[in-house]
Amino acid sequence: MTDKAVIEGTPAPVADRQARDLPLDSHLHTNQSFDSQVPIDVYGALAAERGIAELAITDHIDFDPRWLNFDPDFGARERILRAAAERWAPHGVAIRFGLEVSYESNREEEIREHLRAHAYDFVIGSVHVTIDSPYQASRVAGFVAGRSLDEIVEPSFSEVVAAARSGLFDTIGHLDSIKRYLLPHVTPAQFAERLDLYEPLLQALVDGGVGLEVNTSGLRQATGETYPSAAVVARFRELGGERVTAGSDAHRPSWFAHGLDAAYQIAADAGFAEIAFRRGPGEPVAVVIPDRFLDR
Ligand SMILES: [Zn+2]
Ligand SMILES: [Zn+2]
Repeated sequence: MTDKAVIEGTPAPVADRQARDLPLDSHLHTNQSFDSQVPIDVYGALAAERGIAELAITDHIDFDPRWLNFDPDFGARERILRAAAERWAPHGVAIRFGLEVSYESNREEEIREHLRAHAYDFVIGSVHVTIDSPYQASRVAGFVAGRSLDEIVEPSFSEVVAAARSGLFDTIGHLDSIKRYLLPHVTPAQFAERLDLYEPLLQALVDGGVGLEVNTSGLRQATGETYPSAAVVARFRELGGERVTAGSDAHRPSWFAHGLDAAYQIAADAGFAEIAFRRGPGEPVAVVIPDRFLDR
């Protein structure tokens, strides 16, 4: 399914967006994350049914003790994951032990220490809306009022730059998901007119050799476009970006691999022939983008 409407930002019915026959979805949450109830075997079964060959389960970890995924049970997570991986391998589905870190620059040393002490196959670094953030629903209108777009994005984008420069992550998750929290005060169209705002972020990714995730969760949200948009991914490539990753960021069964075709198409259209990944200790690996996305 190549859905031009998806790429151009017009939401299509959820039922039309269930991707099939893809090599990898590298951003998924199970019931090991506070905000998901999905048992890992549900994703295994969906992957087998739809021909999604490989998954990275990237449950959350937060370093703010007030958050719900503070200090998760690493041992339990790993046991559950490795056991599921053994169950699903005979069905043609490889399951990897990933992690999504809620990056906060003022907690970088704790994050570094955790990643030094715990081995994951693949690690996403994401900037989320923190408890004290100006983007919290109760504060965002007041924060936006009277500020320029440069000032509005600064608290989030400066953290993204720090995450990219930290050297801690394989990829940066949902680069500009702040678009979601700024609706309706700032629209995706306003972001599209200010691609210059992304230059420091993309340059930090290029300099650090870090991946840029094309996250399709925005396609099921009011934003109606990926995080980040196709234009930003194309600019990343122009600047010398070498690694893109692709994930649905599912927290429910119906979100599994949702819109993932669009992420592959955006990556291919930007000039990438491969999706970047890592499978444990050592160097990143390349997952070839299927021909159907490249032959256009
Ligand atoms: Zn996230
Ligand atoms: Zn996530």
